[in-house]
Amino acid sequence: MRAGLALGLGVGLGLAWLLAARRRRAVREVLFFPSRPCCTEELLAEAEGCDGRPATCPCPLPRSDCSLSRLLRRLLAARRSLELCLFAFSSPELGRAVCVLHRRGVRIRVVTDSQYMALRGSQIGVLRLLGIQVRHNQDVAFMHHKFAIVDKKVLITGSLNWTVEAIHNNKENVVITEDAEYVQPFLDEFERIWEECNPGNYTFFS
Ligand SMILES: [Zn+2]
Repeated sequence: MRAGLALGLGVGLGLAWLLAARRRRAVREVLFFPSRPCCTEELLAEAEGCDGRPATCPCPLPRSDCSLSRLLRRLLAARRSLELCLFAFSSPELGRAVCVLHRRGVRIRVVTDSQYMALRGSQIGVLRLLGIQVRHNQDVAFMHHKFAIVDKKVLITGSLNWTVEAIHNNKENVVITEDAEYVQPFLDEFERIWEECNPGNYTFFS
């Protein structure tokens, strides 16, 4: 009898713990930019993980979290897939994070703006050279989105262009959520734009 009670109590506690853990894990974060200056070199070098030793950087910037390091961590958490729909992409730090994921075997697809992808400092050429799939719009209207989807589960979206200027100087916002009611429409829209930007559909060939 006493054993049965203990067992019931144990199962109950286990269920409560599971439910609490699930609630705790729900990703909801808001980031504001410009990012405070902070060192992201150690975070990136560790993710690149060349020699397995803890990375060190001699710069005097604080190691505490900043908006940029938080954004980098969300991206570096990707294990399977990353969809990027970005008007402009020139941040070397975010470019490095995407390269790390590519080397890890994460499936990456990028949609970007045809007029901005060739500007000086753009990371798009770097990504293409690595073999990452990049598509771009072919109309004159801007492909003006700025969103990312990690593992088809976490949406990162807001006003922030992934540029040096926007990250360090502009007032910008980013919302990060794993609420499926927000993630799914963005996934659907990505697939729609991805197909729209399929080179097989370019009208200037016909
Ligand atoms: Zn540093």
